[in-house]
Amino acid sequence: MSLALESAAIESAVLALDLRTDAFIDGRFSPARSGKRFATENPATGKVIAQVAACDLADVDRAVQSARKAFEGGAWSRMSPLNRKKVLLKFADLLEANAGELALLDCLEGGKPIGDCVNTDVPETIHCIRWHAETLDKIYDRVAPTGPENLAMILREPVGVVGAVIPWNFPTQMAAWKLGPALGAGNSVVLKPAEQTSMSALRMAELAVEAGLPPGALNVVPGMGETAGQAIGRHMDVDMAAFTGSTEVGRLFLRYSAESNLKRVILECGGKSPQVVLADPPELDTIAAHAVNAAFWNMGENCSCGSRLIVHESVKDALVEKIAALAHTWTVGNPLDPATRVGSMIEKSHMEKVLSYIAAGKSEGAKVVMGGNRALSESGGYFVDVTIFDEVANGMKIAREEIFGPVLSVIPVKSEEEAVKLANESNYGLAASLYTRDLNAAHRVARALRAGTVSVNCFSEGDMTTPFGGYKESGFAGRDKSIFAHEQYTELKTIWMQIG
Ligand code: NAP
Ligand code: MG
Repeated sequence: MSLALESAAIESAVLALDLRTDAFIDGRFSPARSGKRFATENPATGKVIAQVAACDLADVDRAVQSARKAFEGGAWSRMSPLNRKKVLLKFADLLEANAGELALLDCLEGGKPIGDCVNTDVPETIHCIRWHAETLDKIYDRVAPTGPENLAMILREPVGVVGAVIPWNFPTQMAAWKLGPALGAGNSVVLKPAEQTSMSALRMAELAVEAGLPPGALNVVPGMGETAGQAIGRHMDVDMAAFTGSTEVGRLFLRYSAESNLKRVILECGGKSPQVVLADPPELDTIAAHAVNAAFWNMGENCSCGSRLIVHESVKDALVEKIAALAHTWTVGNPLDPATRVGSMIEKSHMEKVLSYIAAGKSEGAKVVMGGNRALSESGGYFVDVTIFDEVANGMKIAREEIFGPVLSVIPVKSEEEAVKLANESNYGLAASLYTRDLNAAHRVARALRAGTVSVNCFSEGDMTTPFGGYKESGFAGRDKSIFAHEQYTELKTIWMQIG
């Protein structure tokens, strides 16, 4: 059911929610074997919503065994691409039929504005599953150009059991970015959602099986990163780990792989993405709209958050004024209120971390243009003001480290060369935006920026047809979205035949 963005409808939909809180293994819900549970809370109120099964090694093991059995059995892995497509399209239809519920779960557990969940997160989730489903019976394998005495077929086969470990910032969407291509390619998946946001992934798995996915082809093991996440990373029978999250934890997955079975690892990690504005920009009002969206969409809890505005000094003051005026219209408030543009931080400790970055910005001498404090503390929730710092130096902590909150740093520059130099002076390289009217500069700078996605005269991550992932410490060995995502969940096999 879709959800009307209107308070009474939202309130009654919250009351009608039937929460899934057990692990989903072998096509069924079951508690963790230990019986342990952990509290999931609403970060906009600080109140506990539910107690979720705390899976550990024993449960990951059960899930991997089920996934392996499904893979070996072939009911999914050897199903024809046409039929896999039909099941995944049915899955997308069921996601659509339950879109309102999924949106509410992400809003309640994630502190995300309901408008974003209804209009962006869930539709993008459905689109992702449909897009990958649609590709399945349109992909061809290859025949190598050998001589007439041989036939060499180059085939793509599913990797096997894929462990997916994902973050809390876009719960359904991050699940879909892994599930669409991994299931599409015929793999079995064991998914660990972030501890803060498990419930939409659990519901998605239930819907996938309802759509005809064989039991075991998708298992969801909620739990802590250090236990369930690590158990996936180190499991000897997991063939591939697909991770999205912090660079710090991403590094651990490389170690887990090295110390276990050399499972394939792909990492989508953090960012400190620049928005570069050259001296001859397009309309400042348009740039301001993109810049505010880049910095404050999803509370800045976005891997591609445009957190550094690197702007030519000749246009800086006029642009910052427009950005601040627009940012004042981004209401911080209850995520269930359709008027809210900025919800809460994901949890108390994260709010405190964001506030400590703001304090560092102030003490290092950056100028506060707006915000800079905790907001709505009377709600019991973890809100932070939309915050803009001007006169930031690229060496300051707020310009170097990923804050993952609604904090924009404005860094003035004197030339195109300086802008490119500062933009690239970062350990990260996930995304970048560039604003200029000069076509040559657009091409020149877009190529010079070291980032997986460069958007010109807009803030964008591209769409489902374009790969998304990072250079440098923003990623490793992989991309989400597009046909490139599909391919990375496959092994390349050569079958060489002698023709007598
Ligand atoms: P995180 O702390 O790294 O957690 C990500 C996932 O890893 C969670 O499921 C977490 O479980 C798990 N985990 C934590 N510690 C682990 C360990 N020792 N071993 C195995 N797994 C472990 O990241 P986050 O705070 O949830 O998400 C924010 C980060 O994700 C940001 O850095 C953001 O840039 C990045 N991100 C990147 C992309 C991209 O496409 N490049 C997209 C979205 C987000 P618990 O929740 O239980 O701790
Ligand atoms: Mg964590």
